[in-house]
Amino acid sequence: MKNKVYPVCVIGGGSAGTMAVLRTVLNNDECLFFPGTPKDKKRSRAMWVRKVENVPAHFNFKRGIVEPNQDTLRWIEESPYKANLHAKNNVGVISLKKNENVFQITASNNEVYFAQYVILCTGVMDIQPEIDGKIDTIFDYANAQTVDYCLICDGHHVLNKKASVIGHTDSAAWTSIMLYERYKPLEMFILTNGKKNEFQDDTLKLINAYGIKIYESKIQQIIGHSRGAVLESFLLEDGPKVETDICFVSLGMIVYNKLALELGAQVDGRGFVVADESGLTTVSGLYVAGDLKANTKKQIYTAWDHAVSAANAINMKLRISRRPT
Ligand SMILES: Cc1cc2nc3c(=O)[nH]c(=O)nc-3n(C[C@H](O)[C@H](O)[C@H](O)COP(=O)(O)OP(=O)(O)OC[C@H]3O[C@@H](n4cnc5c(N)ncnc54)[C@H](O)[C@@H]3O)c2cc1C
Repeated sequence: MKNKVYPVCVIGGGSAGTMAVLRTVLNNDECLFFPGTPKDKKRSRAMWVRKVENVPAHFNFKRGIVEPNQDTLRWIEESPYKANLHAKNNVGVISLKKNENVFQITASNNEVYFAQYVILCTGVMDIQPEIDGKIDTIFDYANAQTVDYCLICDGHHVLNKKASVIGHTDSAAWTSIMLYERYKPLEMFILTNGKKNEFQDDTLKLINAYGIKIYESKIQQIIGHSRGAVLESFLLEDGPKVETDICFVSLGMIVYNKLALELGAQVDGRGFVVADESGLTTVSGLYVAGDLKANTKKQIYTAWDHAVSAANAINMKLRISRRPT
């Protein structure tokens, strides 16, 4: 139908987006859904997540976000609610505008769509370390999870291992302190990869008390084998080889906030979109869910919770607007 105004549009098909779609269609609201182009998907965290061990019943998925999300969409397509879902597979959103009370959505297929409410779930990506002038040196290890990015998700992997953290900020230092305090790994190192450490005095005191060693030289090479499944050491430019079984990268995140910024939504100092408890941003009708949302844990189950809050808040507004006067 030409110029149809959908009640709800969900942008992004990772943890938050898939839950936003599920909740919206189960609330019996029609949902226009853009999971993203193959390029959007490739640069999303959802695509990188392998085994998930901190969410009940997720242990057996090889790809802990992609596989259960595919199951969920398949279930919707076969459910009595299938007519509510308008999925634009492999399509992303390239521009978002608001005219009066309607969002105008320009998609990567060059079509323009309209919606009353938008739930933006475009996520973030972790910044990768440059090793030997490239960021892809670490990818095999990240895929095999000998290199990890999230302490809450994968911190437990350091038990009885030699562990290291790549990063130079106070937040990287605290990653190493928390790993040390929780799991007492056999050894713990921080590699600042050529940057001067920015650790605060109190942080440094604790690092020294725990015997966590800091190396500030650039990493020249990763040594390991079996397509990343075995990490042995980092070879540093100034000579030493730092033996490590597992490494955490703590260099911050790239926030995919372009569409929110285009609408003038408020973001915090790191680019995360500011929103209230229901996910409502400073732009009326625009909600955010998942890693994109400011001041929240960046986890699968928190993304789910945000998505449910946003879909339910929108459903309440839709129901009120349809009540007899
Ligand atoms: C290596 C790794 C391991 C992790 N392990 C765990 C774990 O074990 N447990 C856990 O709870 N959390 C884990 N996390 C965190 C978890 O991945 C995130 O918290 C979660 O994916 C956030 O969901 P999201 O929907 O906000 O973003 P994502 O899941 O990253 O999804 C973003 C979506 O937005 C889409 N998109 C982007 N731009 C556009 C656009 N312009 N138009 C349309 N779509 C777009 C992408 O295609 C993608 O579908 C891990 C993260 C990493 C990096």
